[in-house]
Amino acid sequence: MPSVDVTVVGAGPAGIGMALALESLPGLKYTVLESNRVGESFRRWPPQTRFITPSFHSNPFGLADLNAVDASSSPAIFAGAEHLSGTQYADYLSFVVDTAQLPVSCGYRVLEVQPRRLGGFHLITDHGELDTGCLVWACGEYQFPDLTPFPGGQWCLHYAQVVNWQALETGCYTVIGGYESGVDAAFNLLRLGHRVRWLVRRPTWDLPEVYDPSLALSPYSRERLREMEASDALDIVYDADVVEVAIDAKGGFRIHAADGRHWDARVPPVLGTGFLKGGGAGQIADLWEWNDEGHICLSHIDESTRIPGLFLVGPQVRHDQGIYCFIYKFRQRFAAIAREIAQRLALDPIPAKQAAGAWGPFGNAECSNGCGC
Ligand SMILES: Cc1cc2nc3c(=O)[nH]c(=O)nc-3n(C[C@H](O)[C@H](O)[C@H](O)COP(=O)(O)OP(=O)(O)OC[C@H]3O[C@@H](n4cnc5c(N)ncnc54)[C@H](O)[C@@H]3O)c2cc1C
Repeated sequence: MPSVDVTVVGAGPAGIGMALALESLPGLKYTVLESNRVGESFRRWPPQTRFITPSFHSNPFGLADLNAVDASSSPAIFAGAEHLSGTQYADYLSFVVDTAQLPVSCGYRVLEVQPRRLGGFHLITDHGELDTGCLVWACGEYQFPDLTPFPGGQWCLHYAQVVNWQALETGCYTVIGGYESGVDAAFNLLRLGHRVRWLVRRPTWDLPEVYDPSLALSPYSRERLREMEASDALDIVYDADVVEVAIDAKGGFRIHAADGRHWDARVPPVLGTGFLKGGGAGQIADLWEWNDEGHICLSHIDESTRIPGLFLVGPQVRHDQGIYCFIYKFRQRFAAIAREIAQRLALDPIPAKQAAGAWGPFGNAECSNGCGC
């Protein structure tokens, strides 16, 4: 049976960024297993969707591109775009994999993880089995939407199920959810000439003293919101705490709110209501400890508090100091995990120590462009 020191599961930005950090550890035997293609979640975005966080090639002056997975590459330079599409970003990730010659095996879905009695893990995939010392789980959220945030959610169309906004039939759409994906859904539907009723529990663009984009609407979406507010085809309904969607005898939908109001719709409501708590980490739910709010408990080094050697990277990582749901946030954890793994395997810790400085407050620790600035 093949055996490696470390296995990373998932080849999105979290898995690829983590692989780059591991690559800096000489002598480490590691692999990345991906069930589909590199950047698969981004390849599934509707073609109209764009990155919210801007990309800009500020690298030579010590500020890494906000959406890069390492200190030297730049999605802005790769794609020639500031707000990349999903396909452009997935192509950027594939470029990084090819350039660094990372050991990524696509088409390998991890079906089961068995912790071994003496440490390490036995992985069962749809194409064979593997033993690994440490396991880094990087399975994201996008492919794990919460399809039933309330009873009747199954009648709705979740944002993550939309293949192309252009393919939807003409009509008056109801969008549920007042955060990023709700804005994106409403914006694209309006742009394509539909009418939109937008049910919002609380306006994320008007939260007093809240500036963290993990909680408050991003500037990019605020700009879109201002454009939308000028449209007669948009009806924003505030304090709409949806508790149920029912279907009526004519095949229509009745949306019920907690305060007794209801709205009728002829086409399935669109859900911008988020993903399963823990996202893809729920595939190995028993190997984590979960808190009362349904989030995963992690050590200070993002290790499972239940099973040693199992690490989590990506948007599900939360600590007291913040929610790591953007790439520029969760990439800051890669080097620390790599350093921890190096220590446990008694590898030369110096390269990882250097890497740990890569994401300081101003990004790159040193110019990576060779321009000597
Ligand atoms: C509409 C939208 C817009 C966004 N805009 C931004 C933005 O502007 N800026 C930003 O920073 N973030 C943005 N995000 C969030 C960002 O996309 C996520 O934080 C990011 O994709 C998470 O990366 P990841 O690698 O953890 O997960 P993913 O990109 O989802 O990668 C996980 C990978 O794991 C694979 N996988 C899953 N299960 C298994 C298994 N059992 N075996 C093997 N492989 C498996 C999947 O196929 C996938 O390729 C946006 C999200 C959405 C939905």
